Amino acid sequence: MSATSSVDYDVAIIGAGPAGAACALGLRRSGLRVALLDKAQFPRDKVCGDAIPGQALKALRQLDPAFAAALWQLEPRDAVRRSRLVAPNGGSLELEWKLPSFNSPRESFDNALLELVRTHAPATTILENTSLKGLHMAPDHVELQPTHGPAITCGLVIGCDGANSVVGRKLLPEPRLARAHHCVGVRAYYENIAGAESGTTEFFLTRDYLAGYLWLFPVGQGRYNVGLGMLAEVVAAHKVDLKETMVRLLATHPALAGRFAEARQLGAIVGFGLPLGGGRVRPISGERFLLCGDAASLIDPLQGHGIDTAIQSGLLAATQAAACFAKQDFGAAHMAAYDEQVAAKIGRKLAKSYRLMRFLSTKPWLVNAAVGLARVPGLKRWVQKAIG
Ligand SMILES: Cc1cc2nc3c(=O)[nH]c(=O)nc-3n(C[C@H](O)[C@H](O)[C@H](O)COP(=O)(O)OP(=O)(O)OC[C@H]3O[C@@H](n4cnc5c(N)ncnc54)[C@H](O)[C@@H]3O)c2cc1C
Repeated sequence: MSATSSVDYDVAIIGAGPAGAACALGLRRSGLRVALLDKAQFPRDKVCGDAIPGQALKALRQLDPAFAAALWQLEPRDAVRRSRLVAPNGGSLELEWKLPSFNSPRESFDNALLELVRTHAPATTILENTSLKGLHMAPDHVELQPTHGPAITCGLVIGCDGANSVVGRKLLPEPRLARAHHCVGVRAYYENIAGAESGTTEFFLTRDYLAGYLWLFPVGQGRYNVGLGMLAEVVAAHKVDLKETMVRLLATHPALAGRFAEARQLGAIVGFGLPLGGGRVRPISGERFLLCGDAASLIDPLQGHGIDTAIQSGLLAATQAAACFAKQDFGAAHMAAYDEQVAAKIGRKLAKSYRLMRFLSTKPWLVNAAVGLARVPGLKRWVQKAIG
């Protein structure tokens, strides 16, 4: 099944975050020689809200129930049962979730995913501290250039290297994502926040920054991930200093003022970009390459979650990779089947979410009204479905 024994690996997955780890798990029985490269040494941190979506756990459970079962043993972890959404006018809405999910710091969660690869895909060669600097397309293979050490050759490269993907930058004809699809977020960990509860995630909307929200998520062991995210175009237009704005909102937002009086911040406030999905459809594959997760811009524009779509796309890429080797066809036309699968299973929902986010972003009155309406018996389910 191998491409050719003259290459080091059949498949090289770049990035061992949720997309890359899921892809390696998806390929565990393929018989292919798989390398999983990451520039970091795990456990490593990743700036995130640390909310692991129920759909992420569901996708792993469908692959093998043991995977999700192992992740449910993870510590620290906080099982999420409900959310509280505070509208710009202060009205609030409590939502109960049916699909089981939890929050866990990415340092722990991503390390646990990589442990699943070590245990269940032992033939995978895991290369940590290996940063991809560049790549070169040869007629019958791909040559990867790490920052240190000799070149690595493979038959197929799968870019799971996140928001600043080197694979995407080097191989996509038009790698730049429109600014309208860029979001930026900052977060810090806290403890001792008044009124914060295990099991409840809190979302705060403000009139000034409606295309985004402030969050407060319990992550276990009495700690909370607190953050603020918003569209990059709003940040640029209003010259928003996100870190300063987050600190100010924690002290002044009517639903938060006082709650942080005795809180202790653990570590610095740190930020990172979120490439949003659902907009202009651009290729996420080509001859001998596929992109997954943030590298393919698959973050939900309304809620900002992308761990689920990273895992789902990583698994779809594994299926496509196996099909490529079975047919010995690595051409762009054959690869495009992956784009279609991602569009059908992930992209359509993200497009709907993008339109809703854009529509609501200029209408605080509508958000207030929706939160108010959800208190009317029978309408809550409708509002909950609309926001996911
Ligand atoms: C502030 C913020 C809050 C968020 N909150 C949530 C949330 O609560 N829930 C949720 O579901 N999503 C959230 N997201 C989105 C989520 O973090 C991403 O969608 C998710 O991490 C995507 O997974 P991935 O595997 O595609 O990429 P990543 O998790 O970014 O993993 C990429 C991996 O590639 C490695 N890498 C990068 N470049 C190279 C290179 N050149 N060579 C080798 N390795 C490389 C990195 O070290 C990393 O391990 C948030 C994002 C931000 C920024």
